[in-house]
Amino acid sequence: MIEESETNLHSVRVRFAPSPTGYLHIGGARTALYNWLWARKCGGVFILRIEDTDLERSTQDSVQEILEGLKWLGLDWDEGPYFQTQNLEKHKEAADKLLREGHAYHCFCSKEDLDKQRKEAEAKKTAFMYDGRCRKLGSEEVRHNLAAGMSSVIRFKVPRDGNPLITFEDAVYGKIEKRAKDVEDFVILRSDHTPLYILSNAVDDSLDRITHVIRGADGLANTPKQILIYNALGINPPTFAHMPLTLDNKKAKLSKRVHGEVVTISYYRRKGFLPWALCNFLALLGWSSQDGKEFFTEAELIEAFDLSRINRHNSIFNYVPGDAKNWTDPKAIHFNATYIRSMALNDLVPYIKDELKENGLWLTDYETTSKEWFLSVIDLIRSRYHVVTDFSSKGRFCFSDDFEFDPKAVKKNLCPDPKLLDYLPELAGELNDLSGFDIHEIEDVFRDFADKKQVKAGLLINAARTAVSGSSVGPGLFELLAILGKDRVVKRLNDSVNVIMKRV
Ligand code: GLU
Repeated sequence: MIEESETNLHSVRVRFAPSPTGYLHIGGARTALYNWLWARKCGGVFILRIEDTDLERSTQDSVQEILEGLKWLGLDWDEGPYFQTQNLEKHKEAADKLLREGHAYHCFCSKEDLDKQRKEAEAKKTAFMYDGRCRKLGSEEVRHNLAAGMSSVIRFKVPRDGNPLITFEDAVYGKIEKRAKDVEDFVILRSDHTPLYILSNAVDDSLDRITHVIRGADGLANTPKQILIYNALGINPPTFAHMPLTLDNKKAKLSKRVHGEVVTISYYRRKGFLPWALCNFLALLGWSSQDGKEFFTEAELIEAFDLSRINRHNSIFNYVPGDAKNWTDPKAIHFNATYIRSMALNDLVPYIKDELKENGLWLTDYETTSKEWFLSVIDLIRSRYHVVTDFSSKGRFCFSDDFEFDPKAVKKNLCPDPKLLDYLPELAGELNDLSGFDIHEIEDVFRDFADKKQVKAGLLINAARTAVSGSSVGPGLFELLAILGKDRVVKRLNDSVNVIMKRV
């Protein structure tokens, strides 16, 4: 593993360099997260660089989605966003410098020439590699061709003398070696003078003074070529740390086309994920802490994170299409639910506030006169919820009298015994007569009533639960009734007669 000296780490500069050609992918977000963690751990700088040189596929919407996604996740950048297109001139200058200094050459091979070479290779069943024929052209010939207006690209002159090896020490994969003879003289500038991505990316990393390139393992294929570019430009290459890919449970790449919205960050936001719960989950897709700990505060994760503990094995995102309950990796849901259940109420409330506001369920009283009540409701119901949207859907009955009844719960709990038509209003009357409305008083009313009528308390408890919440599941009933308050409970028990009548 790479040993970094203290001084080095203090000047760490890393970047997240997405191409704005679509959505913010969970794999991309994980790359951003690892870069951010490394920057924060080292007291370094996290840069956002939008690699928008593919003009046809880059869109403003995509840039917007990336920025919003990162902001939502809390991955704040210190510099940028820089846009790669702003540096095109500098990329061209680098290509010119390589040309001037003999590290690159004009290639006049036409598309037809190359197609022919490719076909010949195919016939011989060998992988096609440009044979470097233009590398041998004399300067006179090159000048002549250029003067004649022949179209040309600029190719990098891969060193050939003495069968050299291109080597680098990857912070994750260790020593990587590639024989230069397996690398073709690759194009760095097109015939229209636009730079190739491989050049722009390396030049920008050097202009941005990037010390660590933390990116997906799919970038490994580019690295030897980029090392050659750095060497030829006389620049020290950054440290590379390639992260294993995240695949689905059939070991296929994750894509929106195949897997749908579940691979996009915006989906988790809409579905009611807490950004830090998602970050925590993503952090573990390819990295693990020394002691096996899984739940981290932001500060703890920054402290624990280290490039040397990034796994070399691809990680699995356990998504099974069509599973309504586990609509994403169950571990992600488990993380979110655990955070919802256990985080400080004050940290959770802002998310719930937004959620209730969006659904017309928010009252300003919840921050003033009813604050205590509001917090106790949230605390009571949160233990069963997985996502923030549950507070406005499953939890709607706490904030509005206009809530839905689950037909199954009505059938099971309100309709099993026709006597409930009499019992529930009667029970409502007894509860209404209580001087207070605490858990014990309520429970006593239920138990005494059951004794009096010679029915199981469970019949009344289940019926009351459905009458006040529309559901057959929820927190302890007496606690729930106490929190909902006498007026609401009495009214809902009385109204439940209408609900029953509609079904029988
Ligand atoms: N723009 C590249 C991508 O989105 C980034 C590659 C890199 O990080 O070097 O895949």
